Amino acid sequence: MADNFVDGIMETVESRNGGDVEFHQAVREVVESIAPVIEKHPEFAAAGIVERVVEPERQIIFRVPWMDDNGQVQVNRGFRVEFNSAIGPYKGGLRFHPSVNVGIIKFLGFEQTFKNALTGTPIGGGKGGCDFNPKGKSDNEVMRFCQSFMSELFRHIGPDTDVPAGDIGVGAREIGYLFGQYKKLTNTFVGILTGKGLGWGGSLVRTEATGYGLVYFVSRMLEARGKDWKGQKVVISGSGNVAIYATQKVQQLGGTVIALSDSNGYIVDNDGIKLDTVRQIKEVRRGRIKEYLEEHPSAEFHEGWEGIWSVPCDVALPSATQNELDGNAAGTLVANGCIAVAEGANMPSTPEAVKVFLDGGVSFGPAKAANAGGVATSALEMSQNSMRMSWSFEEVDKRLKGIMDSIYTQCVEAADAYGCNGNLVAGANIAGFLKVARAMMAQGVV
Ligand code: NDP
Repeated sequence: MADNFVDGIMETVESRNGGDVEFHQAVREVVESIAPVIEKHPEFAAAGIVERVVEPERQIIFRVPWMDDNGQVQVNRGFRVEFNSAIGPYKGGLRFHPSVNVGIIKFLGFEQTFKNALTGTPIGGGKGGCDFNPKGKSDNEVMRFCQSFMSELFRHIGPDTDVPAGDIGVGAREIGYLFGQYKKLTNTFVGILTGKGLGWGGSLVRTEATGYGLVYFVSRMLEARGKDWKGQKVVISGSGNVAIYATQKVQQLGGTVIALSDSNGYIVDNDGIKLDTVRQIKEVRRGRIKEYLEEHPSAEFHEGWEGIWSVPCDVALPSATQNELDGNAAGTLVANGCIAVAEGANMPSTPEAVKVFLDGGVSFGPAKAANAGGVATSALEMSQNSMRMSWSFEEVDKRLKGIMDSIYTQCVEAADAYGCNGNLVAGANIAGFLKVARAMMAQGVV
């Protein structure tokens, strides 16, 4: 039954979503994991839950015209995919990167639905973005672009409808410009975006949350192997929001991060990465990771981001982008003695890589579970906005840690309950799906 079920769903998904290969990949992984759930719960099949869950509730594609500093009109394409609202308002980030297309946004929105369910907070799944490249643009260009993007998006979102946040290429600066335009167009000051500045509705710990949450999750994975962070050598790809705050938390807990990357290449500093330098380069100057060597000449820089997985380590945290770690890279990590891998980015490991890790006895934390700390803290920001109050750093951090612990436990228990003992990929997919499916059942065919 399992093969027929998976093939049947995939046939429809592939024919309806032509070349959206990342979306096919994300759906296949979930559908394969939940086959035993459907077998045990025929009521889900009778209600067409899986057929409905793989089809976005709404997809919006729009023109984003803006004027560059030379007075030339530029045109980009914007997206918002409102995937599933069974559990709460659509929630998920906006990505500004030249590689963005509807397939990538659909895969991210689909993943987001189950991730958000795992957090135990009342948020549905969505994702958006644009093929705009903020790199090399002036602040004024970014502002004009964000204003144009929001001039269309504002009519589709709302604090009880859809609440976007940041993702690749969308940080504090972009959220500020987007929020300003929403406020002007609607004459309301509401929690319409998360990741806002601390002086205007943002939450403490939101900036750090995905990276911190990832490390809290891995703490549980290490604990299950009788270990902790002390003395662990760690390789983290990327050097953006997720990578920077994962590095900070690993260092606080006694591990040593020895490599980071960007899309040009990777640095290795065997004495431990000096995070202040990285933050100065990436957060202040918006520069390239190889500039690290100007201050720390004993470190190494290697061209090309793929090579980072050849650096021997105990723990690897892919935190840059989708499909950045393939089966060969996974084989190298295993051969070099890596014991734990957890995904800071969304779907950074190819299906072949995941198989290599699971077969090789590596503890593997999938993105939906391991990187859910960001959106969980976004949900905490929404709660604070609704109450018009703000919690302390310690309070939010404590809640974040509690949520990551609970996600880990849900994954382990769901995997056990469906005969996939120790497989956190299956556990995350099953636990997330069950929550969404039960809410959809209760709400009828809508
Ligand atoms: P940032 O834009 O802050 O940083 C992205 C980093 O990844 C940069 O170092 C960038 O390098 C690198 N990168 C991006 N694209 C590529 C590519 N095609 N090849 C190699 N390197 C690349 O993004 P975030 O840190 O916010 O996001 C990173 C990942 O984490 C994404 O998959 C995102 O979906 C996921 N995520 C983020 C959350 C958040 O709260 N921010 C929450 C959950 C998941 P360069 O500067 O050279 O482009």
